[in-house]
Amino acid sequence: MVISVNKIRCNACEDVIESTHVHDFKWCKCHAVFVDGGPEYLRRGGQGLDFKGYTEMSEHHTAEEVADALRDHSEGMPLDTPRERNRLRWMTIAADMLEDQ
Ligand SMILES: [Zn+2]
Repeated sequence: MVISVNKIRCNACEDVIESTHVHDFKWCKCHAVFVDGGPEYLRRGGQGLDFKGYTEMSEHHTAEEVADALRDHSEGMPLDTPRERNRLRWMTIAADMLEDQ
C-alpha cells in the first residue's frame, strides 16, 4: 500500500491534522486525537474527555493502482481533469517511494 495523504479530522473540535513525514506527530487543537507516520504508516490515537473519535481523510493506493496510473500517464492520458491532476500528484509521491524500497 502506498500512502499519499495521512490525514484525519477530530470529531470534537473539527480540526484537520495531517502527518507529512514519518516522525511528524500532530495533535488536534483540543488534544483529543493525533496522527503520526506520514507516508510510512497510519498511526492514530486519542485520549481525554473530549475524545469523540475522528474521521479518516487519508488517501492510499494499492500497488496495482499505482501501476495503472503510471501506465496511463506514460501513454499520455490527458491531465486536465481534477481526477487526473490528483492522480498525478499522488503517483509522483508513490513512484518516489517505490524507488526507495
Ligand atoms: Zn480535537
